[in-house]
Amino acid sequence: MASSREGSLEAPTRHPLGQDTADFLDENKLFSELERVFDICHGCRRCVSLCASFPTLFDLVDESDTMEVDGVATADYWKVVDHCYLCDLCYLTKCPYVPPHEWNLDFPHLMLRAKAIKFKKGEVKTRDRIITATDRIGKLASIPVITQTINAVNSNPLSRKLLDKALGIHPQAALPEYTSNTLTKRNKKRLHATGITAQATDATTGKVALFATCYGNYNEPQIGEDLIKVFEHNQILVQLVQKTRCCGMPKLELGDLDAVHQAKESNIKILAALVDEGWDIVTPVPSCTLMFKQELPLMFAEDDRVIKVQQAMFDPFEYLMLRNKAGKLNTDFKNPLGKISYHVACHQRVQRIGMKTRDTLNLIPDTEVLPIERCSGHDGTYTFKSEFHDAAMKICKPVVNRVKQQNADVYTSDCAMAGHHIEAGLADGSKPEHPISLLRTAYGI
Ligand code: SF4
Ligand code: SF4
Repeated sequence: MASSREGSLEAPTRHPLGQDTADFLDENKLFSELERVFDICHGCRRCVSLCASFPTLFDLVDESDTMEVDGVATADYWKVVDHCYLCDLCYLTKCPYVPPHEWNLDFPHLMLRAKAIKFKKGEVKTRDRIITATDRIGKLASIPVITQTINAVNSNPLSRKLLDKALGIHPQAALPEYTSNTLTKRNKKRLHATGITAQATDATTGKVALFATCYGNYNEPQIGEDLIKVFEHNQILVQLVQKTRCCGMPKLELGDLDAVHQAKESNIKILAALVDEGWDIVTPVPSCTLMFKQELPLMFAEDDRVIKVQQAMFDPFEYLMLRNKAGKLNTDFKNPLGKISYHVACHQRVQRIGMKTRDTLNLIPDTEVLPIERCSGHDGTYTFKSEFHDAAMKICKPVVNRVKQQNADVYTSDCAMAGHHIEAGLADGSKPEHPISLLRTAYGI
């Protein structure tokens, strides 16, 4: 393929997903595009260390008769697709051929299109339908008696063996614990209870509606609690958004675009109404923030409410640093944190906001933040699957090694699940702490 230049000189742009266009679900056209893109990747190979998709592709090529993409059986293309968990790192951190380059390469969107076709054909495991229904599972698992049963099953080696056989959930994968005392239950009466008068800056309203997320609501509500405390300590008015559903990211990764559409419809009217009332929106999970900042706008650009919510959506530390810029961050820290190993979550990196978590924690005296910019390999549901768990642990290994080498006082990740994945890799009894919890400790509140 001839090109006038190696990489693009212009800033990368991204085209809409185009899920409603005529060609999107056409399998023949998908395969032609896969062949075209795989051929470019085979000639480039920059992304070999990012995930298991690229090594899978390159092994298929290298082991074929022709040692070119034309020697790979098209049925094997699915092996590449199945290893992609849509972290977006290849698009945003490596690829010189993304638009506006004439090769117009968007590897994650192509994988997503392939996943959507697979899903439409019904080629989806029952397990994958279940584990991506995070809000339904969370609702069920937060019913008191059921919570204890599910947590007991998830932590019992014998039942985990059965779960592996019955569903294909890896017996060593660290499944998240559930709680019946969810973040939503704890904060039903939050609004108007604080006595804080919101102070706007150029970039923020000083009023934050916290979108709990499934994980933040049903699994680790302490993160949301700490976020509320830290924000209120900074005179930011906080309310917890009620009656929301999953942001849709797990269903996106499954290729179930109808479910993404339904989740969007149900969340966006609530969130857009809050934005109209002057609320900014924050979530404690980078993937969920990214869903509203990037994925939904790329799918539903014509929906004004989606764009409205996109513009009011912030990563928590992005928000705090914007407040800091306007002189409205409380920097009266009481407790130094020492050395912190900081894993930068992929779905936060691709928000292109810079390392706002590091910058915030670096404001704390006698605190040194050591960033690790590599994928942890947790990636939504990838590590839970029996067939991918070993690959997920392998991807995590360089991160685990860096944490060990850094020998810091604590390790952390904006993605709590990535933090626990690193914990599983370390397997030394140490526990990660979420950066917002570290900030709360530093404030001594
Ligand atoms: S989006 Fe992430 S997982 Fe998918 S191919 Fe790119 S780097 Fe790999
Ligand atoms: S996605 Fe881009 S950078 Fe990565 S291997 Fe393919 S062509 Fe190279």
